Amino acid sequence: MMEDPTSKYPKPPFEKQSQPFPGLANAMRPKPDHGEVSYKGSGRLAGRKALITGGDSGMGRAAAIAYAREGADVAINYLPDEEDDAKEVISLIEAEGRKAFALPGDLRDEFFCEKLIANSVSVLGGLDILVNNAGRQQQAQSILDITTDAFDATMKTNIYAMFWLTKAALKHLKPGAVIIQTTSEQAYDPSANLVDYAITKAAAMNFTKSMAKQLASRGIRVNGVAPGPIWTPLQVCGGATMEKLENFGGDAPMGRPGQPAELASIYVQLADPLASYATGQVYGSAGGGGQP
Ligand code: NAD
Ligand code: MG
Repeated sequence: MMEDPTSKYPKPPFEKQSQPFPGLANAMRPKPDHGEVSYKGSGRLAGRKALITGGDSGMGRAAAIAYAREGADVAINYLPDEEDDAKEVISLIEAEGRKAFALPGDLRDEFFCEKLIANSVSVLGGLDILVNNAGRQQQAQSILDITTDAFDATMKTNIYAMFWLTKAALKHLKPGAVIIQTTSEQAYDPSANLVDYAITKAAAMNFTKSMAKQLASRGIRVNGVAPGPIWTPLQVCGGATMEKLENFGGDAPMGRPGQPAELASIYVQLADPLASYATGQVYGSAGGGGQP
C-alpha cells in the first residue's frame, strides 16, 4: 500500500514535556514508533550476532527490533535507569525466537566498555555487528554554560566509548563484520546551542571514514547513519529547548520529525552482507534537510 510520508506520523505542535536524563521512550507523548508493529524481516541478517549501545530506546531500539526480525541475536547496552525500556526490547527480540541479552552499564568507563565487549562475545558466541549508537546531548545557549564535567561527559559518552568499544571489538571481528556509528546532521551543520555535542558527531563521522580505510583490507566495513530531528528521549531530557520541542521537526521540509522506525532499515542495509562494497559511507535521514 502506498503511504504519504508527510502524513504518516505526528506533526508539531507537540505537548510540552521534560524528563530527567536519560529519559524513557515509554513516558513520551506521543510515544515514539520503533517499528514494534510495522517492521517485517526477510532473513537479511540470519545468524548474525549484534551489540547495540543505547539499544533500549530511539534508533538503537529500532535497530534492535529490526535486526532480530532479520534473524540476528542481539545484545543491548543502556543505563540502569532505562531498565523499563530495555525490558520491552528484550521481550520483542525474544518474541522473534532470537536470543536477547541485556547488558546495562555506563559507557563513560573504559573498563566497562572492555567488559561489555567481552560479555557480548561470551553470551552471543561471537560478534559480527557493533552499533555505536549511545549518545549524550544537552543543549546550552552559551559555551559559558558548559561546565568541564558536562563537556567531559559528552566526550566520554559519544567519542571515547566509540573508541574503546571499537578497539575491544577488533579482537573478535572477522571478515564480513560491520561497525556502524550513529552520527548526526549536526556533524555537518552544527546548531549554536549544541557546541559540545556537534563536535562529537563530527568526530563519529570522521572516525567512520578513517576506520573504513584502516579496516577495509581486513574485510570489516565501517559506516554511519546521520539522522535529522528524530522523536526520541534524548530530545526531551535536555537535548532540546522547550520551544524547539514544541515545534520539533517543523522546520524539516517534511514538516515533521522522523520516528526511529523510519531509520531501522538503514541500520539493516549497512549491516547486510549484500552491501559488501559500501564502507566509509554516511547515510542521512533528515526529512529533506541535513547532509550528507
Ligand atoms: P535515545 O535517548 O533513545 O538513545 C540514546 C541512548 O544513549 C540512551 O537510550 C542511553 O541508553 C544511551 N546512553 C547515554 N549515555 C550513556 C552512558 N553514559 N552509558 C551508556 N549508555 C548511555 O535517543 P536517540 O535519539 O535514539 O539517540 C541515539 C543516537 O542518535 C545518539 O548517538 C544521538 O546522538 C543520535 N542522534 C539523535 C538524533 C535525534 O534527533 N534524536 C539526531 C541525530 C543523531
Ligand atoms: Mg534510552
